[in-house]
Amino acid sequence: MTDWDVIVIGAGPAGSLAARANSLRGLKVLLVDRATFPRRKVCGCCLNRHALSVLESADLGALSARLGAVPLNRVQLGAGGRCATVRLPGGVALSREAFDVALIEEAVNAGATFQSGTRVQMDETADGAEGVSLSGGLRARAVIVADGLNGRARAEATVVTAGSRIGAGAILADAPDSYESGTIHMATGRGGYVGLVRLEDGRLDVAAAFDGSFVQMHGLPGAASMVLQSSGLPPLPGLSDADWKGTPPLTRGPVRVAGPRWFAIGDAAGYIEPFTGEGMAWAMASALAVAPLVERCVQHGPGGLAAEWVAVHRKCVGERQWTCRALAWSLKRPGLCRVAVRGLRLIPGLAHPVVRSLNRPLASLPGVR
Ligand SMILES: Cc1cc2nc3c(=O)[nH]c(=O)nc-3n(C[C@H](O)[C@H](O)[C@H](O)COP(=O)(O)OP(=O)(O)OC[C@H]3O[C@@H](n4cnc5c(N)ncnc54)[C@H](O)[C@@H]3O)c2cc1C
Repeated sequence: MTDWDVIVIGAGPAGSLAARANSLRGLKVLLVDRATFPRRKVCGCCLNRHALSVLESADLGALSARLGAVPLNRVQLGAGGRCATVRLPGGVALSREAFDVALIEEAVNAGATFQSGTRVQMDETADGAEGVSLSGGLRARAVIVADGLNGRARAEATVVTAGSRIGAGAILADAPDSYESGTIHMATGRGGYVGLVRLEDGRLDVAAAFDGSFVQMHGLPGAASMVLQSSGLPPLPGLSDADWKGTPPLTRGPVRVAGPRWFAIGDAAGYIEPFTGEGMAWAMASALAVAPLVERCVQHGPGGLAAEWVAVHRKCVGERQWTCRALAWSLKRPGLCRVAVRGLRLIPGLAHPVVRSLNRPLASLPGVR
């Protein structure tokens, strides 16, 4: 006897939105997370136009404004001691503490049961004919794996791309006024890049990607200071007193994104460097796209759905990641970044095709509601 129609592992943006979408389809959903909320997550905290369009298509378009998110209108890029400004077509900054808790509440309001402080592991030895077993005696007809970058809900290891950078983040309570609200400040340099943005409560979110060897040499605050100093962005005191948190290597993919009765979404289905701030958009788009497949799995069994998810995921997320891959490649070449910033100072419009591509709203997805 299966206890749940769907168990969702991980209550980040991907898991909570998937739990909500499947609850709205009338399924009995359990959402679990090993953390207690609000929890800290290394993130640039920027929701771009694409992410906002995903929320709109889930009828959650008013959520970010209700939470006091800060509208974003430009990016200030610094490299080699010079800065260039690029206009943004929209987007907001919002702390992950506020956003993730609000999405969990939306899932619960839609009928999902939420259990925090619960780490689960999936048993993949069964063929999925009846359902999926998880640790703690849990069983479900379908499982959504949304356990993030380095989740261990599945035994199968992820494949890390060679030379992948690691992530790091801190939040500063006090920061100089030169880091003004409404702007994404982005410093690039040898060893990595650092993004800074004011949150809804005035704190400054600092999120970075660094080469592992650079961090070994300078430590996290030292690495951030060096990149900021060389970039031309204003000095930022207080970095060494901040509470830094690191991540494992960022660019990676799972060996499989689906199996008998389970589907991976969000970072658990693969992630690349965060420079373009697309991660939450991909996570939430995959959460909406997986819902109709999960409903069919619960009602009719898993036949053919794993292969279908591979194709749908490639379409809604994989195809959008090419711009991000190209930028991640360029960012490893500081000389190229310096040339790009010089070019953008002369002709800011050079950035428009990239900005447009990254902020393209969600195209309609089959069966999404
Ligand atoms: C430096 C940096 C900057 C970034 N900046 C941005 C940005 O500005 N904009 C943007 O859109 N994206 C950004 N991202 C990416 C973004 O943070 C992720 O893409 C996003 O959080 C993915 O959401 P998710 O729901 O897949 O995973 P997560 O948000 O990581 O959530 C996964 C959840 O699963 C839980 N979990 C893990 N294992 C288990 C288990 N076994 N059992 C139960 N629970 C478990 C974890 O506790 C966690 O709460 C950035 C990332 C980094 C590293």
